[in-house]
Amino acid sequence: MADVRLERISKAYGNVQILHDIDLDIAHGEFAVFVGPSGSGKSTLLRMIGGLESISEGQLLIDNNVVNDVDASDRNLGMVFQSYALYPHMTVRQNLAFPLRMAKASAGVTEAKVRQAAALLQVEHLLDRKPRQLSGGQRQRVAIGRAIVREPKVFLFDEPLSNLDTELRVQMRVQIAKLHRQLGNTMIYVTHDQVEAMTMADKIVVLKDGRIEQVGTPHDLYHRPASQFVAGFIGSPKMNFIDATLVAVHRERAEIRLETGMTVSLPIDASAQAVGEPVTLGIRPDDFRSPADSEQGLIVELEVDFVEHLGNATYFYGNVGAASLVARAPKLEAAGRLEKIALAATSADCHLFLPNGKALRRLHAPTSWN
Ligand code: ADP
Repeated sequence: MADVRLERISKAYGNVQILHDIDLDIAHGEFAVFVGPSGSGKSTLLRMIGGLESISEGQLLIDNNVVNDVDASDRNLGMVFQSYALYPHMTVRQNLAFPLRMAKASAGVTEAKVRQAAALLQVEHLLDRKPRQLSGGQRQRVAIGRAIVREPKVFLFDEPLSNLDTELRVQMRVQIAKLHRQLGNTMIYVTHDQVEAMTMADKIVVLKDGRIEQVGTPHDLYHRPASQFVAGFIGSPKMNFIDATLVAVHRERAEIRLETGMTVSLPIDASAQAVGEPVTLGIRPDDFRSPADSEQGLIVELEVDFVEHLGNATYFYGNVGAASLVARAPKLEAAGRLEKIALAATSADCHLFLPNGKALRRLHAPTSWN
């Protein structure tokens, strides 16, 4: 059963339409992440679910009840935002207790719930401090605690980690994911950071220009991106794209020719396409390998113009014809002066996109993480 259901939801400010016909189900206990570039409509969508923005068209259901006209405070939601919005003059204990006081909970219940939330978020030793005596990460944990004490059905998070430095973001990301496992609540989380989306989500909703581009598990989005946009958005460094032309089309394989003149046969369904159509070949930086280790799929020669050593990985930047490429060192000798390196990719690791951005179906995409 869906905890949260969006049926043909649209949003317009005046005559500018911001969100278009959003259909989405979020199941009970699911961790759903809205991800997309800035301005794609993520926050507006979350705020509509939260009751902070009106819904121009369509229906929003929480627990099978239409709540379009229900007040934010009556939707049984816990919200956490980028700015912590703690009361500066109150202690952590008072901040945590505040929503319960508003709900007229008894002193005993309040104390128990505050203790429970503080333990869960490891802020018990901070209960008597004021927000200004806390670090950014601690403040954000208190803000999450304040949402938890009301035991909401659904949590809404709007870029809650944006103000934290990189190390803290990583820590908090793990904490929120663990919290989700402990509480088992439905969570909806907005971020522009695809790594956050990939690491936390059960279900990722990729938004672009106010429309859903793809909904799927992190695995689906990585291995079966529905479009060139999703392929480029999910994964870091991003997928490489190279222009090519279809030279043979079959249900079981597509044959393409690169600008370099090389032709390669890929396990991709191209039966609906025409020979001669331009396509874009996509290969992730991590999927390149040394030609010696590879079944002979694709081979390109990279004119290296920059090498980045990160310790655990080495990335080669350069060009193949007109295309700029990045490849993770495919167990190549990473030393020496590298001006040109040969890179191979197995045909099963290649993606193909049409000029309209749609992906052609890969027949051998992995079906689970391994
Ligand atoms: P995101 O969260 O993906 O960055 P937003 O939901 O904040 O995107 O915004 C989506 C679009 O809606 C943007 O183009 C933004 O300028 C526009 N927008 C947001 N709020 C308002 C508003 N109150 N009035 C007019 N336009 C708005």
